[in-house]
Amino acid sequence: MRDDAPPFDPQTVKGFLTPEEGAALTQAAREAGALGPIVEIGSWCGRSTLYLAAGARDAGALVFAIDHHRGSEEHQKGEEFHDAATWDRDAGQVDTLPLFRDAVRRGGAEDVVVAIVGRSSAIARVWRGDVGMVFIDGGHALASALDDWRGWERHVAPGGVLAIHDVIPDPAKGGRPPHEVYRKALASGLYEPKALIGTLAILTRSR
Ligand code: MG
Repeated sequence: MRDDAPPFDPQTVKGFLTPEEGAALTQAAREAGALGPIVEIGSWCGRSTLYLAAGARDAGALVFAIDHHRGSEEHQKGEEFHDAATWDRDAGQVDTLPLFRDAVRRGGAEDVVVAIVGRSSAIARVWRGDVGMVFIDGGHALASALDDWRGWERHVAPGGVLAIHDVIPDPAKGGRPPHEVYRKALASGLYEPKALIGTLAILTRSR
């Protein structure tokens, strides 16, 4: 990006993260990036990826952005959060990868963001090495959310960060699976709650 260019606003990218939640992700990635890379599960069109990338850049860390780019349950055709712009007519499936790639380019973050296209649980099984931060914002069905928790929490370095999006404590106000993951993290005795910004929970790993 040119030095005199205005800073790119991630809010211009499709997504659900608020500016306040985004700023908290940037701050967390800036601190946790000193301990290892940042792993994002569920990038969709790249809004949150850009917030993470801003912090990772300051820390000299990379963001591994994991997504199968076929959309979560709620993004499918006929579902509440379907977006026609994500529909690949030839494939007859959602495909957010072109939009993601465009966002990372427009955000000037291609040097910091590494896209991994595939299922997070399969990648978790072969991943080696500690990470500074895991941000869980993948599928919101209970099985997907629990798979992401089980597969990835063990890779977080002591002192590192676990962030979870869409944590909604009141069952009347939204889906429960991300909140279930939050409860499991607390019950494990390994994670301390640090902040709840909007529906973004940030925890730190104690050991
Ligand atoms: Mg989310």
